[in-house]
Amino acid sequence: MSSTVPLIDLKAQQARIAPELRRRLDAVLAHGQFILGPEVAELEARLCGFCGAAHCVGVSSGTDALQIALMAAGVGPGDAVFLPAFTYTATAEVPLLLGATPVFVDVDARTFQIDPAHLAERIAAVRAAGRLRPRALIGVDLFGQPADWPALSALARQEDIFVLDDCAQSFGASLHGARLGREADATAVSFFPSKPLGAYGDGGALLTENAERAALYRSLRTHGEGTTRYEVLRTGINGRLDTLQAAVLLAKLDVFEEELAARERVAAAYDARLGNAVQIPARVPDSRSAWAIYAILLADGAARARMQEGLHAAGVASAIYYPRPLHRQPAYRAAHDGSALPVAEDLSQRILALPIHPDLSEADIAQVCDAVLDAV
Ligand SMILES: *Cc1c(COP(=O)(O)O)cnc(C)c1O
Repeated sequence: MSSTVPLIDLKAQQARIAPELRRRLDAVLAHGQFILGPEVAELEARLCGFCGAAHCVGVSSGTDALQIALMAAGVGPGDAVFLPAFTYTATAEVPLLLGATPVFVDVDARTFQIDPAHLAERIAAVRAAGRLRPRALIGVDLFGQPADWPALSALARQEDIFVLDDCAQSFGASLHGARLGREADATAVSFFPSKPLGAYGDGGALLTENAERAALYRSLRTHGEGTTRYEVLRTGINGRLDTLQAAVLLAKLDVFEEELAARERVAAAYDARLGNAVQIPARVPDSRSAWAIYAILLADGAARARMQEGLHAAGVASAIYYPRPLHRQPAYRAAHDGSALPVAEDLSQRILALPIHPDLSEADIAQVCDAVLDAV
């Protein structure tokens, strides 16, 4: 049997970028500025150039990016923070850490992105109940695709709430020809190793068009410091991006465009071979996905279990993102108001992610597709 096709392959990528990676890491070892060294500012400028954002602040993870953005917006007890029920746990954890209440919103059955119509209903219900103040929206760009930003932004303006783009999975994606990074008041990016632009450890960034906001993010990532190091203006966190991670990311940014194109080719090849056999990912109109995840939908939970077994037997990795919607997680059940979120529940039973990364060969793609078609 051929070898196993992994979900992602960081070793193949490392081999491609080895000389530049080595040069970048050696430079950091030579200058020794491991905290906020010159690579951090260089990366921040390169990321602004890449997506057109005015300001970029490198931080310690995608989760810390979300937290710093909500801290800067003053989100706290009594505030309702609206977010999709079908996302990674970090999106809900941050409002809870700040004492705010997450209000879970259902997602679109085709694109898996937060459903603006349900969001409007949820905001209206919170206003009517009068217990919490609608304060912020975290729109998640799920699996590499953009959320419905025109609808989300219009609603947020009308409701006068802070909008945060959780772009942890989708940096590099575009909507209406523009790269994500400027759709919300702030955009949070993750450089977790398996994200499309991944470091070799934790890392993240905040993007914003607002200079004051960016200055606040810089202060908050360094313990709330003022203009001098030992002036503490506000309660902050230790949330800086490491210089070594910035160096890794600079080497990876050189090939990021090519990698996005390679991911797109894999997705197109899967679509072409699998589209008649299983439900392939629906595209958000007029967008380009960063293809963090390529997820198919099976008929039901039993069909998904059979598919996973078949793939495993054929040496093809697969994974379930997400096996439980957030409102069903033990940690968040108490925060949920009990509203039904049927789409998130249904997707969690039927969804399955196939391998996708820039170094999948034609043979790998054929092995994945053969395995899916045999198991369906
Ligand atoms: C990965 C991820 C995060 C958290 O990013 P980290 O860098 O791992 O802290 C937040 N939101 C979503 C949707 C994610 O996928």
